[in-house]
Amino acid sequence: MTYDYDLFVIGAGSGGVRAARFAAGYGARVAVVESRYLGGTCVNVGCVPKKLFVYGAHYAEDFQQAKGYGWEFDAQARFDWSTLVANKDKEIERLNGIYRNLLLNSGVTLLDGHGRIVDANSVEVEGKRYTARHILIATGGWPQIPQIPGYELAISSNEAFYLKELPKRVLVVGGGYIAVEFASVFNGLGALTTLLYRGDLFLRGFDGAVRNHLKDELAKSGMQLQFNADIVRIDKQVDGSLQATLKDGRVLEADCIFYATGRRPMLDNLGLENAGVELDGRGFIKVDEHYRSSTPSIFAIGDVIGRVQLTPVALAEGMAVARQLYKPDEYRKVDYSMIPTAVFSLPNIGTVGLTEEQAREQGYEISVFESRFRPMKLTMTDCQERTLMKLVVDAGTDRVLGCHMVGPEAGEIIQGLAVALKAGATKQIFDETIGVHPTAAEEFVTMRTPVSA
Ligand SMILES: Cc1cc2nc3c(=O)[nH]c(=O)nc-3n(C[C@H](O)[C@H](O)[C@H](O)COP(=O)(O)OP(=O)(O)OC[C@H]3O[C@@H](n4cnc5c(N)ncnc54)[C@H](O)[C@@H]3O)c2cc1C
Repeated sequence: MTYDYDLFVIGAGSGGVRAARFAAGYGARVAVVESRYLGGTCVNVGCVPKKLFVYGAHYAEDFQQAKGYGWEFDAQARFDWSTLVANKDKEIERLNGIYRNLLLNSGVTLLDGHGRIVDANSVEVEGKRYTARHILIATGGWPQIPQIPGYELAISSNEAFYLKELPKRVLVVGGGYIAVEFASVFNGLGALTTLLYRGDLFLRGFDGAVRNHLKDELAKSGMQLQFNADIVRIDKQVDGSLQATLKDGRVLEADCIFYATGRRPMLDNLGLENAGVELDGRGFIKVDEHYRSSTPSIFAIGDVIGRVQLTPVALAEGMAVARQLYKPDEYRKVDYSMIPTAVFSLPNIGTVGLTEEQAREQGYEISVFESRFRPMKLTMTDCQERTLMKLVVDAGTDRVLGCHMVGPEAGEIIQGLAVALKAGATKQIFDETIGVHPTAAEEFVTMRTPVSA
């Protein structure tokens, strides 16, 4: 049997592009189909525009803090939302072009349109059928809004990047990192922002000290936090504004209601049933440890398999599939331990390894080191923001099990610490490492007294 392609990739997002490029680089004949935007969620409606918005929002604090350093402004700083959105769009267009070139220069055939699986070795795009020895599903995810009455009046992250104007009052619903980040963006840009979450405290799964510290800092920055609260209906009022009725009967008003309450796998009209591709109990594509689905010729990676929904993980999985199929001597399974992550709230969170709660649950005897301080940069300003740094150490082996931070540049700092943790660094190695002075990061190597053991 001869096929049109060795590998047919559905979805040119983080994982799909990586797999396609590397497979083609290893000599495979590769096609990739994309229905919406090159670069996928991350480039178009995820990590990249989100981070650009966070940078934009942080300037508000920078302008305030600059005064402590002698800067005076003749005029009041004024923010223009449409400039931010237009410049963000321009940057994304540039990135779309880079992705196109990356694929074409590696010899990948790029098809525009919706890909639908017809059988275990064929995909249909815009009425044309293509055959392939292997198919890779990398179709990502899609925001999910609970279907309460009036849900269609709310927006998700997809629309938030294209709002025509900055809403004056925003209600952000959700307790995950996307909710916290967007609430920080709106709050930083000057919108009256309420973050509403049905649980006791947001960011489940993060270290308890981190969650509480961020809660305090967000409250200090003027954000309204409403926990144990849920919206049961949304109504549009005559002036165009929105009214959210909560479970407890309270009513909140807003100009924009933004839901960040989870993402579902993007399986719409994908034709999985035509090839017998099975889903797992949560509705994601079921794969084995090598990303092979229940149909041996079909693989799946990234958000659509619902493991760790982050761009670098999708990239690693894409690379793993390409190597497994076309460069087996270089194939290594993806190591899901010690994945560092950041939450680009204001202030940022950076974290790697076990939280204190996880370490205790897993039966470790631990020592916990914590430092809370006002960063040097803020000492000459009115800003009362405080930084938190925390180490969770295995008392038995002295190995550092987890590092957690809330504070400026936490994402940048945690990347280096992730290398140390991955290499098995002990607390003694942290202690013997000379600090970089004067920085906030040096605090990670100067914490000497455990707060609990
Ligand atoms: C608001 C937001 C912020 C985020 N921030 C971060 C962050 O800071 N750091 C981080 O690591 N991760 C972040 N993520 C997560 C990250 O974007 C995803 O984990 C990553 O994009 C997953 O890559 P993927 O390849 O699985 O899918 P995607 O990047 O979603 O790509 C899937 C592609 O498939 C296409 N597609 C779908 N169905 C079809 C079809 N049938 N035919 C053709 N094409 C199809 C889609 O159009 C899309 O382009 C964020 C996500 C969101 C929503």
